[in-house]
Amino acid sequence: MTRARAADLLKPAGPCCHCKQHAEERIAVDYVERASGPAGEVLGCLPCARSLLRWGTGHPWLAQDLAAIDRERKR
Ligand SMILES: [Zn+2]
Repeated sequence: MTRARAADLLKPAGPCCHCKQHAEERIAVDYVERASGPAGEVLGCLPCARSLLRWGTGHPWLAQDLAAIDRERKR
């Protein structure tokens, strides 16, 4: 399994799905099934993504994605 990189995980700027504020950096916090085509990404800002995990409502892969971003930023 290849490790995800921050550049691949971070999505273009736009409104956060939770706080509705404009975020320069967003990350997929969930996926929604569509009738056709690929699953849609639900994008949230990093603070909201971390909050989801704190509340225990975040996906296990979300913790991994955030950890991957943090790892790269520490350098
Ligand atoms: Zn947010």
